[in-house]
Amino acid sequence: MLKLFNTLTRKIEIFRPIKQGKVGIYSCGPTVYDFAHIGNLRAYIFVDLLKRYLIYSGFKVKHVMNITDVDDKTIKNSQQNNKSLQEFTDFYSKAFIKDIKSLNIKMPDIMPRATKHIPEMVDLIKKIGKHGYSYKSEKSIYFKISKFSDYGKLAQLDKQTLKQNAAGRLNISDEYEKEQVNDFVLWKAWQPEDGEVFWDTEIGKGRPGWHIECSAMSTKYLGEIFDIHTGGVDLIFPHHTNEIAQSEAAFKKKFVNYWLHNEHLLVEGKKMSKSLGNFYALKDIKDKKYNLLLMRLILLKTHYRKVLNFTLKDLDEAKSIAEKFLSFLAGLDFVVCGGSNNLDIKNMISQSRKEFKKAMDNDLNISSGLASLFDFIEEVYKRKSLISTNQAQEIKNYIFEIDEVLGFIRPLYEQYQMRLNKKLATKKILNMISKREKARKNKDYKEADKIRIDLLEKGIVIEDTEKGDKARLLKIID
Ligand code: AMP
Ligand code: ZN
Repeated sequence: MLKLFNTLTRKIEIFRPIKQGKVGIYSCGPTVYDFAHIGNLRAYIFVDLLKRYLIYSGFKVKHVMNITDVDDKTIKNSQQNNKSLQEFTDFYSKAFIKDIKSLNIKMPDIMPRATKHIPEMVDLIKKIGKHGYSYKSEKSIYFKISKFSDYGKLAQLDKQTLKQNAAGRLNISDEYEKEQVNDFVLWKAWQPEDGEVFWDTEIGKGRPGWHIECSAMSTKYLGEIFDIHTGGVDLIFPHHTNEIAQSEAAFKKKFVNYWLHNEHLLVEGKKMSKSLGNFYALKDIKDKKYNLLLMRLILLKTHYRKVLNFTLKDLDEAKSIAEKFLSFLAGLDFVVCGGSNNLDIKNMISQSRKEFKKAMDNDLNISSGLASLFDFIEEVYKRKSLISTNQAQEIKNYIFEIDEVLGFIRPLYEQYQMRLNKKLATKKILNMISKREKARKNKDYKEADKIRIDLLEKGIVIEDTEKGDKARLLKIID
């Protein structure tokens, strides 16, 4: 039974969906004013793992992830780049989608953009107003938190702490306009610095506040109450706290059952920042000639509620972990013997599957999950000489089954196979292999060895099996 840590209760709880067998998930998506950094991507790898594991466990998942394409930063940066808001945010949205695809993150079912949902936001703001939770000041509309008695529940903040927190974040003009420092904006009246970015609506000329975007889009696609909401820990307060206040004030019911938050990624113990020179986007990792799926493995293998301290050395470590999986799979392709009836592979697989599920059911304990897989591989190695070709295929299928959750082994293996097939399709290589075969048949072992070494220089390892030569690549990950 799947258990997840719910930020709302600070407890690990049994996951019970609203509708049996179905799960609705909303994830706060990127604000598209720049390329995503590897910290942001950790948040999306976490959701991907959660989603893949839910699907693996038999749930039908509906995943919604928004794109924040209007806020202070997108407006400011588009103006600095002399681009319209749409042109500017389109560019970074596309870059984001490319990034998540290159990390083999499953695409969300729906990716709503904030600017395409202004009417829904206006409706929601009107509803909040009708219930008396908002007020207008200087043409902007604010949420009145003193009216919402549960405010701050998610962040476990008392009213006093809230005041201190909020006071630190606000500038003077904000404070003048608000009745209370904690009140947050639902609708921001147009200001000259917004330029062409505004919507003329029945609640005034302006643009939505950031928090209302997520309340409106999650409700539109998942309903007034849904199962899981995700984001990084920095979003607990104020963003998610405010989403709860808005939605519960409007619909008078619980908004979300399970709030899941991933911890942050640090680089060499420090918060990532461009000025410190420790800021990494995926293109920086690619420039260093690392396969991006290694980055997936790094982001995946630390439990989502632990701080991940990234260093460049992690890429080499991830490479050697991935290599273990791949050489295991490549080795299975070399099995050509009939096997032994004494080996109960089916039982070994079902034991391993049980252990993997036990680990993952415990709040996605990925470290134990991976460890159980390594134990399995170890056990198979011990019985290597007993495995039949069919059993080798069963083992491979099992690894691929688990990789429906992990998402890096199969794509790396497919890349490997493609590179191998490409090499084996070149005439020169084919000639060398058949020459070597002939030399061996003629018992000219000196010549055969010479060709073997020449092939090795070209990155190809030849192994002799009962059923002839088998070729593999020396470099298992490119
Ligand atoms: P943003 O594009 O700034 O709205 O952030 C997108 C997502 O990345 C949010 O869920 C943030 O909580 C998350 N996030 C931002 N910085 C980090 C970080 N250093 N480590 C992990 N998650 C982060
Ligand atoms: Zn959000």
